[in-house]
Amino acid sequence: MSKGSCFKQGPFFAFNGLLLFVVFSYLWGTSKSSFIPLKNTHLMTGKLLTTSFALLSLFFQATAQNTGRTCGTMENLEMLKQQDPELEDKMNQVEREMEDYMVNLRVNPDNSITAVITIPTVFHVVWNTAAESLSVSRLNDQLTVLNQDYRKTNTDASLVPAAWTSIAADCEVQFCLAQRDPFGAPTTGITYRQTTVTSFSTNNNVKYTANGGTNIWDRSKYLNIWVCDLGSGLLGYAQFPGGLAATDGVVCDYQYTGTTGASAPYNKGRTATHEVGHWLNLRHIWGDDGTACTGSDLVTDTPNQAGENYTCWAPLTVRTDACSPSAPGFMWMNYMDYTDDACMYMFTAGQKARVVACLGTSRLSLQTSNGCTPSNPGVTEYTTYAINMIPNPNQGEFIISSPVYLLQDCEVKIYNALGSVVKELKNGSFSEIHVDIRDVNPGVYFVELNNGTGMITKRLIITD
Ligand SMILES: [Zn+2]
Repeated sequence: MSKGSCFKQGPFFAFNGLLLFVVFSYLWGTSKSSFIPLKNTHLMTGKLLTTSFALLSLFFQATAQNTGRTCGTMENLEMLKQQDPELEDKMNQVEREMEDYMVNLRVNPDNSITAVITIPTVFHVVWNTAAESLSVSRLNDQLTVLNQDYRKTNTDASLVPAAWTSIAADCEVQFCLAQRDPFGAPTTGITYRQTTVTSFSTNNNVKYTANGGTNIWDRSKYLNIWVCDLGSGLLGYAQFPGGLAATDGVVCDYQYTGTTGASAPYNKGRTATHEVGHWLNLRHIWGDDGTACTGSDLVTDTPNQAGENYTCWAPLTVRTDACSPSAPGFMWMNYMDYTDDACMYMFTAGQKARVVACLGTSRLSLQTSNGCTPSNPGVTEYTTYAINMIPNPNQGEFIISSPVYLLQDCEVKIYNALGSVVKELKNGSFSEIHVDIRDVNPGVYFVELNNGTGMITKRLIITD
C-alpha cells in the first residue's frame, strides 16, 4: 500500500470485504453476529463460500487499492518536503529533542509533569453548503471525544484486550475551546467562514484566507482544527511538529467530525483523535512501510505490524500477521491504525511518552497559553509589568507583589486550565496580596489581577 493513497471503500471493496468477513467467520468459528457490520455488506450472502473463493478474496484484498479510512498526513508531508528541502532536517531536530526529553525523564523521573496539560483549541469551520456548516453542539461533541480519548475516559476503553490493559494510557492531555482570540478578544473558540471553494484537499488551501480558507491562529497558543469538505474520500490530515507555522494544525472532513450527524463508520469522532495524534508527533502504528516489518512508529510497546487495518472486528479478536505472527498479535484497536471509529479505542504508554515529550519540547509554549482564559474587553492587558508570585510552584499560601497601582482595589481570580474560576478575592490598598490555596487541587492555573482598567495574568502551578 502506498503512503496515504487509499480511499474509502467502494463497491469492489464491499465485495471483498464481505468475502473476508465470511472467511474470518469460517476460519475462526466466529458467528456473524459477533462482528460489527461492515458498510455495504448486503450485496450477497455467505452461503456461496468455497475455499478457492476465500483464497481468491484474500488475494484481491492484498492487491486492492481503494479501501477504508484515508488519512492524508503522509501525502501532505511529502508535499511539504517538496516545498521545503530543509523540512526533513527540522523534523529530525524535533525528534532528537523529544528523544533527549524522554531519556531525561527515564533518568530523572521526578522531572515529569504531574499536571494534566490543557490545549486551547479553535475550530475553523470553512463551509460551502449549509450541511458543511457544523453546529456548535456537534463541535462540542468532537471536543468531548478528544477529551475522553486523551484521558482514557472513553467508554470503549474497557474493550482493550487483557494483554494490553497495563499499557493502555491516559495521555493526561485535555482540550478546551478557546475563550480569547489571538488579539485578546472574546471568542467561542469556533470561527465560521463561507467559501466558494467546493472542496479542499491536502494542499493546505483551507488554511489561508486568501485561498478560500481561514488563516491560522498562533500555533504556539492554539491547536487549530479546520473543518471543511476535503473531497476525494479524505477523512483528515495533520501536520507533524517541525513544519511551517502558517499551516501547523489538523484538518478534518465535515462528514467525519463530531458524532451525532456524522457519517458511519467514521461517526465516533476518532478522525480528530487520530489526526491530533499526528500533530503531537505520533506515527501510524504500522510504520508507513507498506506491508513490510521494517518500518517503525518509533514506539516500543506497540507490536510490529505489517500494514494498516480497515473495517472492524469484535472486541478481543486476536489478529496476527507476518510481523506479529502469534498472540496477542497486532494492535488493530489503536487510534493510530486505519480501523473504523468503533474499532479504535487506545493509545499506549509509549505513545503517551511521545505526546508528553512533544508538549515538553516543540509544542511547549501551549502549556503557558492563555487561550482558554476569558478576555476582559476594555481592560488593558499589561504584558511588560511582572507580578511576582512566591513561591511558585506552591502548596499552601503564596504572596503576590506587583506595581502598587495594579494591586490597589484589584480583583484576584484564579482560573483552572479550562478557564473556570476556582478562587476569587478582592484586595484593598496593600503592597502585597496573600492568597491561601490549600483548598485548590494540584494542577496548572492562571492568576489574574484586574483593577478595572488594567490586568495582568501569570501561570501558577499548585503541587501535591
Ligand atoms: Zn494518519
